[in-house]
Amino acid sequence: MTQRSSAPGESTTPAGPATPGAGVEHVPASAALFARALKVTPGGVNSPVRAFRSVGGTPRFMMSGSGARITDADGNSYVDLVGSWGPMILGHAHPAVLEAVSAAVSRGLSFGAPGEGEVALAEEIVARVAPVQQVRLVSSGTEATMSAIRLARGFTGRSKIVKFAGCYHGHVDALLASAGSGVATFALPDSAGVTKATTAEVIVLPYNDLAAVRDAFARHGGEIAAVITEAAAANMGVVPPVDGFNHGLAEAAHADGALLITDEVMTGFRVSRSGMYGLDGAHQGWAPDLMTFGKVIGGGLPVGAFGGRADIMNHLAPVGPVYQAGTLSGNPIATAAGLATLRGCQDSVYRHLDETARIVVDLASEALTAAGVPHRLQRAGNLFSVFFTGGVVTNYDQARAQSSAAYAAFFHGMLEAGVYLPPSAFEAWFVSAAHDDEAVERIASALPGAARAAAEALG
Ligand SMILES: *Cc1c(COP(=O)(O)O)cnc(C)c1O
Repeated sequence: MTQRSSAPGESTTPAGPATPGAGVEHVPASAALFARALKVTPGGVNSPVRAFRSVGGTPRFMMSGSGARITDADGNSYVDLVGSWGPMILGHAHPAVLEAVSAAVSRGLSFGAPGEGEVALAEEIVARVAPVQQVRLVSSGTEATMSAIRLARGFTGRSKIVKFAGCYHGHVDALLASAGSGVATFALPDSAGVTKATTAEVIVLPYNDLAAVRDAFARHGGEIAAVITEAAAANMGVVPPVDGFNHGLAEAAHADGALLITDEVMTGFRVSRSGMYGLDGAHQGWAPDLMTFGKVIGGGLPVGAFGGRADIMNHLAPVGPVYQAGTLSGNPIATAAGLATLRGCQDSVYRHLDETARIVVDLASEALTAAGVPHRLQRAGNLFSVFFTGGVVTNYDQARAQSSAAYAAFFHGMLEAGVYLPPSAFEAWFVSAAHDDEAVERIASALPGAARAAAEALG
């Protein structure tokens, strides 16, 4: 996430009483900041999941970060497994990134005219991801998916969009629909304020279900502009595509003249130097028509992007009829942070992320097994998460079958032992290039107690 409240179905979870573990917290400075925030900001936060509603307790207000560690207002230091939901792939306050940002700042903050930094960032993206011939920079992942959908509709002259339940594409009105599990039902809005008319053009299907996709094309041939999917679902917990799923999506879409949009806002430049595409399409011989990016490409500053086939991208203004714009798009400070981050993401970094992810997955699995907690650790490259369920998880319904109470207890166990996990069971865990042996040690020593807390919560 992603910075939505958690899995879409959880967005209305009430604060509830403090969960086990949350009761013993002593964080007066964070509590005081939260009280101030609650007066002037809805729920005290600027993105819902930060409010800790699905785990209970007081959100920690962060003051600083360095490498794998972040420090809260009370001076507690944590090994960070959120990494700002992905952008801090090199670790917090990485010297090369800070230096690039400082140099850019000294030249002025924004011009509203083209600059070199945005060209260099676009070149880096195009050089890494083969299906991206041209790219347009925006300021968030939400803007990227919103614009990609408009472009797909403008290019094809069609209106319907296929999305998958449990896939998150930012808070775009039309995509705030996960609907139920019914096959090929038209979506009902997931949020108040999103009209039925907006989501009526969106067909929501179960993730990893190619038969449902083929059925949708059979029923709505010639009407579907695009299929949009997370290249690996990682906003309902991590649910990788089953073998051949993305390939099958490309075939089904292309057979009908529709486009495939792979949303790599989270996986892009994280799970490999060319994202999930590098682990999947590049080997299986399929390619998306459009892709969306965010998170890593901003290195912690607001940057998103969408790109793909040049003939499609050339339908965008000022060349073509699809309007899209942004006052701060391609901002020199943000693109400097993104470019320095991407340039730091070389093969040795990806090897380190993969290895660290493998170690943490093994440690978590051992601890939960020893405590007798039913669980499933799932991975998409170096992105991973734990589901507190005994069953397999290949789609959203199965993901929602897990125990959020067990996760809340586990989360607070880790937090008290100095490890900051995502404050929701439906989020991926993020490692960084700065997660060294010492960070892994801290995680290893925190896990057994947290696993026992989860076992107690399950009763
Ligand atoms: C984070 C995320 C988004 C939204 O990006 P924002 O920058 O939060 O608007 C979209 N899609 C995916 C897959 C994401 O993980």
